[in-house]
Amino acid sequence: MKRKVKAILSKVNFWLQRNPIVVKYDDVDYRKYIPAPYKAVFILSADFELALAWRYAKNLQNPKEQAIQLAKLARTNIPLILKLCDEYNISITWATVGHLFLEGCNKNGHLAHPHLKRIPHHENRYWRFNKGDWFDDDPCTDWQTSPAWYAPDLIKMILNAKTKHEIACHTFSHIDCRDEVCPSQILIGEILECQNVAQKYGIKLESFVHPGHTIGNLNTLRNLGFTSFRTD
Ligand SMILES: [Zn+2]
Repeated sequence: MKRKVKAILSKVNFWLQRNPIVVKYDDVDYRKYIPAPYKAVFILSADFELALAWRYAKNLQNPKEQAIQLAKLARTNIPLILKLCDEYNISITWATVGHLFLEGCNKNGHLAHPHLKRIPHHENRYWRFNKGDWFDDDPCTDWQTSPAWYAPDLIKMILNAKTKHEIACHTFSHIDCRDEVCPSQILIGEILECQNVAQKYGIKLESFVHPGHTIGNLNTLRNLGFTSFRTD
């Protein structure tokens, strides 16, 4: 019932043109971005993050356990979505968390990914990170043992699909990118790590999606070679 009401409200919002909102920029030459004869571009993007997005979620009671359950669901759904994309010739921009490219990882000493600078404790609309190390939940195993934390198999499935998809960057470990939370050096470390792992699949990362809509560090992203980012 709740779902039905939500679906109806969503349709009403669509008819009232409240969602999605069309923003008009009079001073922007759209031809710079949209080749003739097209007048518009529709981009379908999907955050591809498995358990990494939910580790510190404020709306979950046992974030780590539920993160693993949500990752399981994503693992069931992604192959089905890819099949539908092939059936209807739909391309998706997969905003992929860099950690998913890994076949596995291990603890060097006592920390996971010790060469990466850590994001300080912080809180935003979606998550609260107020104790321990940012990578505490990283199982530091491999994708067969902990399929919620790595996804080389799914990335290959996306790359091998009949329909061409884009792999975009969603940081290495789903960090908050706002300028007031994330010093640029932290983001640079995360992105270099993403570029390094993506390159092994022959992927050049050109589009960026900020985790949890934490828009920020835009100059840093441009300097790292990104040409596009997703806004709200
Ligand atoms: Zn790891």
